Amino acid sequence: MEEQTTPEIEIKQILERLRMNGMWEPGGLGLTYVRTGEKSLQLIQQHNNPTAAQARIRMRLLLQSVDWEIDESEVNLIDVQQLSPQEQHMQEMMMRQQAAQQWPCPSCETPLAAFPLEDGKWTFDGQEEMLLPNGEIEKVEQWSVVIDCPVCDTSVPMEPYDYGLLAGDDVMLSYKSDKVIFTALSRPEIIGIIDEKKSDEIIVTGTFCPFYGTLLPPHVRGAVVRFEAIGEEE
Ligand SMILES: [Zn+2]
Repeated sequence: MEEQTTPEIEIKQILERLRMNGMWEPGGLGLTYVRTGEKSLQLIQQHNNPTAAQARIRMRLLLQSVDWEIDESEVNLIDVQQLSPQEQHMQEMMMRQQAAQQWPCPSCETPLAAFPLEDGKWTFDGQEEMLLPNGEIEKVEQWSVVIDCPVCDTSVPMEPYDYGLLAGDDVMLSYKSDKVIFTALSRPEIIGIIDEKKSDEIIVTGTFCPFYGTLLPPHVRGAVVRFEAIGEEE
């Protein structure tokens, strides 16, 4: 027997997976939410058009029906009609990055942007069963990036997407385990290394660390990377 899904079950599943301060943009609705508490969300942005305005009301009712609180007191309306899809995408990315700069430490309010983001620790949180709309169950790897507050030492786990948003694209090019740093290379960099006959400095990654057998986070899989040993042995 397959379990039956309803909009209520689906939304509960999405919300429970959303990390604190994590951003949620339900597909195509023109709405951007941020999780602000155990069972609360804030609507931070809405496209300035009737479709998004109607979706906002439907979402509010749906969220209330599963006992989540929704704060709509400070919504940034953005005009999207006159923009090309590309400009729209650019504007959305800017908005998201700006919003990310405001995320506070859950304990002391220090902006997450002031954390030592390059020291973020990729952490495998196990697999989670996801109920698909067709009733089937799929196992999905859960990853978080843990960053530490420089003021109060609180460890804050972040959604990888949110981490990239906050720390910038460059941090998503490398991965530091306890013993090795992997850095993804661009095509010109690969060409340079091969031309200099230094191909023993690079590898192509799969799912596991070729040296220690540990699981690699998804963003460093399937890439040409330079590797560098860290720690005691030099
Ligand atoms: Zn703090």
